[in-house]
Amino acid sequence: MKGRVVICKEYSKPFEIEEFDVPDPEPGAVMLRMTQAGICGSDLHTWRGDQVNVPLPPTGRVMGHEGTGVVDKLGSGVTTDTLGVPIVEGDRIVYAAVFPCHHCHMCLKNNTNWCVNRGYAAGGVYPYFTGTYADFLYLPPRHPFFRVPDELPDDLLGPVNCAMGTVTTGLQRAGAKEGDFVVIQGAGGLGLHAIAMAKDMGADRVIVLDRLANRLELAEEFGADYTINIEEFNTAETRVERVKELTDGRGTDVVMELVGRAELLAEGIDMLSNGGTFVEIGDIVRGREVSIDPSKLLAGKSIVGSLMYRPELLPTLLNFLVRTQHKLPFHKIVSHKFPLAEVNEAFPQAEWNSRQTDITRAMLVP
Ligand SMILES: [Zn+2]
Ligand SMILES: [Zn+2]
Repeated sequence: MKGRVVICKEYSKPFEIEEFDVPDPEPGAVMLRMTQAGICGSDLHTWRGDQVNVPLPPTGRVMGHEGTGVVDKLGSGVTTDTLGVPIVEGDRIVYAAVFPCHHCHMCLKNNTNWCVNRGYAAGGVYPYFTGTYADFLYLPPRHPFFRVPDELPDDLLGPVNCAMGTVTTGLQRAGAKEGDFVVIQGAGGLGLHAIAMAKDMGADRVIVLDRLANRLELAEEFGADYTINIEEFNTAETRVERVKELTDGRGTDVVMELVGRAELLAEGIDMLSNGGTFVEIGDIVRGREVSIDPSKLLAGKSIVGSLMYRPELLPTLLNFLVRTQHKLPFHKIVSHKFPLAEVNEAFPQAEWNSRQTDITRAMLVP
């Protein structure tokens, strides 16, 4: 049997779809059949060619990291998920989207999301199915995966192992807690999950900035207390002033950068109260620079970077969804679905950089 894999051979060019033989899982491994794979902001960066200074593997880069699937085949010895829940073929799975080396100083410290040996999965290299824009995904032996609770619909699952895990870890790293003021820069897939999680963690006020009115409306449905449309507040100064107004003149405890623009660091630092934390998540593109005044950090302001999450978080997120799915419109996050074969039509439509789109999160469906 063969399956399709989407590969980026050259930046700023259409992706190619290649076919490979589907291998049998080795002992301890699991082959998933993908059911949905999200188009995340980082995938758009790759497609757009923002990462030209990061060389692609010679055979191309296997695309897609966010998604969900069902067990297609269990390798010998696999009878349960990572928490010991019995598992059979056909069960729905959420898996850790980080594939660490397990042999570096970061992996030894359980910081698998900061593994120093993570690179782009190369196209055409065994086990071939190493990205989510594909018919199958190979989980190597001992890779963390979790059976999805029956009460959760499929459309809530795609973003769990990227957007939701990433923003939750960012909030945890900022020490977000009861009573905090939280500013979210960007109301896309990351931002909407960040709003929901910040409120669940006890945030008193969540203030959300974006330039798309439809996203800001959705932000309110997810619990944003205030929204700021940056088309209206179109300078950093007016936005900082607005945040100060909305935080009783104090500034905010946490700023989350979820857009991917370097200049938002400087703006975000000015939005913070003394002791506040700026969390950099969105700006994954290397080589951009911004100047800041370090003296602004002296009164306890921090800048922390955050990348993905540790796999132990995933069962917590599934429980969070079970608890909140009827209170919050998670079903609206996945706004569009495209057949896998139409990946090169899906990306231009999902693009939000300097254009309007009604897509919140697009999913590729094999
Ligand atoms: Zn992602
Ligand atoms: Zn490692």
